[in-house]
Amino acid sequence: MHTCASPACRKSIQPGQRRRPGPDGQTICNPCYIRWHKAGRPADVPPPPEMSTGHARGLQRHAEAAARAEQARTLALVYSPEEIAAEMGLTVTTVNGYLRSRPEMAC
Ligand SMILES: [Zn+2]
Repeated sequence: MHTCASPACRKSIQPGQRRRPGPDGQTICNPCYIRWHKAGRPADVPPPPEMSTGHARGLQRHAEAAARAEQARTLALVYSPEEIAAEMGLTVTTVNGYLRSRPEMAC
């Protein structure tokens, strides 16, 4: 079994996965090869991105939804779900979903 020679990666390359020659002829995995190739084959393989932009967007949406749910729960102390929906520009179904959900750090 081979290991990707890129210091930031070091993933093991399973049999059947593509191995590619990287800088100095080292064996690197296919994603690293593609990154290296796109970067113009520098002396070092560029490190992989922290996370994909799709994953980052998903986390961002999740955080926004959690913030809206928190706001809805606060408003629910005073207002009905219908009033909260009108106030926040959401559907009543969405508001009720927020009110049923528990805060993430509930004790
Ligand atoms: Zn790699």
